[in-house]
Amino acid sequence: MAAERFIKMPFSHAFDVLIIGGGYSGAALAVRLSREARRALSVGVIEPRDEVGKGVAYSAVHPDYRLNGPDAVHIVMPDRPNDFHDWLQREGILEADFKGWAGSGVFFARRADFGRYMAELFQGHQAVNGTGTDLIHIHARAMSLVTGHDFSMVTLDKGQQLTARLAVLATSNEMPAVPKTFQGDVRLQSGFFPNPWDLDRLAALVPDAPILVLGTGLTAADVITALAFHGHTGPIDAVSRTGLLPMDQNPMPDKETMWERFLQKPPRFIKKHGALTNVADILRCLRRDIVDRAAEGKTWHGAFDDLRDAVRTLWTDLPLAEQQRFRRHLKSWYETRRFRIAPQVQAVLDDYQKAGRLTISAARITSARRSEGGGVAVTFRSRAQDVTWEKNYGAVINCTGLNTSPDDSGNPIMEQLAFTGAAIPHPTGHGFLVDRECRAISASGEPQAALRIIGPLTRGTFMESGSVPAISYQIHKIMPDVLAALNAS
Ligand SMILES: Cc1cc2nc3c(=O)[nH]c(=O)nc-3n(C[C@H](O)[C@H](O)[C@H](O)COP(=O)(O)OP(=O)(O)OC[C@H]3O[C@@H](n4cnc5c(N)ncnc54)[C@H](O)[C@@H]3O)c2cc1C
Repeated sequence: MAAERFIKMPFSHAFDVLIIGGGYSGAALAVRLSREARRALSVGVIEPRDEVGKGVAYSAVHPDYRLNGPDAVHIVMPDRPNDFHDWLQREGILEADFKGWAGSGVFFARRADFGRYMAELFQGHQAVNGTGTDLIHIHARAMSLVTGHDFSMVTLDKGQQLTARLAVLATSNEMPAVPKTFQGDVRLQSGFFPNPWDLDRLAALVPDAPILVLGTGLTAADVITALAFHGHTGPIDAVSRTGLLPMDQNPMPDKETMWERFLQKPPRFIKKHGALTNVADILRCLRRDIVDRAAEGKTWHGAFDDLRDAVRTLWTDLPLAEQQRFRRHLKSWYETRRFRIAPQVQAVLDDYQKAGRLTISAARITSARRSEGGGVAVTFRSRAQDVTWEKNYGAVINCTGLNTSPDDSGNPIMEQLAFTGAAIPHPTGHGFLVDRECRAISASGEPQAALRIIGPLTRGTFMESGSVPAISYQIHKIMPDVLAALNAS
């Protein structure tokens, strides 16, 4: 239906808002605009997928892929914080999907279910919303964007040009880049998997083939879970520079809701330690908080979460050199604690490790070459000792993390924005530089009134903008300014 509406649309069409990318970020913004504007808006969501709301993370159809946080933190509308939980209840999922319940009494929903919830939420608001806003799914890919003082014009892959008072880029990061060692001949080998979410190819793997997983983060955990689901019996090696797996969930879940924590002013960590402006001091205070909590019989999670809630405030005031130091030395350490593993997924990894089928190591890959039967021979150097070894794999699966660099993302609109200077990449190389209201900063250093950027693409600027709760809060923060700019507040 959405596609039909698009075909009837003239060659050029003017919107109040054009959102480029209809994953969680784009859909959540569209839904909130349709609920909170003081006048009927016309909002177009440009998204090549058949449904708006699922994006990369929640298009996952694998039944063992779960949200990496409780259902309660996966929020779109702060005035209805239990909406996803209520939907799960209405759909009978809380009862039917009994594996979703963790020992702590917290529910970890399937990612596919959150995707379905998001798609239905968008479609529900398309059908009816309180402001009479027109929400249109434009089934296309945006190729380029030019922006003026009070308009943006987007060109689509089908050639149409659409204008809007405001364009919002919500395309997120791209697929993991292929590591240098695997470029050239090796990447063309049938045993090399550039896309870790290609479930059909994973399912077709020879069950006893030795497998190398490049990376030890949540994507690697996804892949190992899928291999286990298909009864893979061969050895699995997962390798990263740190060899760190994502940490476990808080066994003593918070009494406060995520939203209550977000609204604390100032965040608890800053209230206690002040607005610190260097990473060493921040870490020292965190360590002290962890020790204090341990003395009360509590785990590290609460102290870390206090810091997490303060990061979006602390980060923007850190000098660039400190931000770069953090990214160089502490990013993996932070992310393994920040992006925790669902207990159900952790159980699979634990079982495989105990059975000796899964080995996790900290090593550097020094070379890779094609081997017989479509496989790949890989040479490693261990991190701890200066030892080198080579091993043959039937498959190598690339789980090295999403490509966060806009200028070589392979996504035409991001590359074009970076190339023309309409939106400059963040100096750390992670996403684009934006101001506090998420306005893109152009090469002249000016914030662009008609172009905002939200979601994971703003991680360089805010650090905390990659998860559902963080994106939800980001949208909440900019909403008053966005509505004012549209004369809709
Ligand atoms: C595998 C995975 C699992 C995750 N699990 C969780 C979780 O459990 N909980 C959590 O809080 N966070 C999770 N995250 C973090 C995740 O980034 C956010 O939750 C959120 O999904 C980001 O949504 P997004 O819309 O910004 O990005 P995406 O989901 O990537 O959506 C971007 C959309 O933009 C579209 N697009 C791209 N280029 C163009 C273009 N040129 N024109 C038009 N459209 C375009 C794409 O088709 C896509 O649908 C996960 C991330 C990944 C990758």
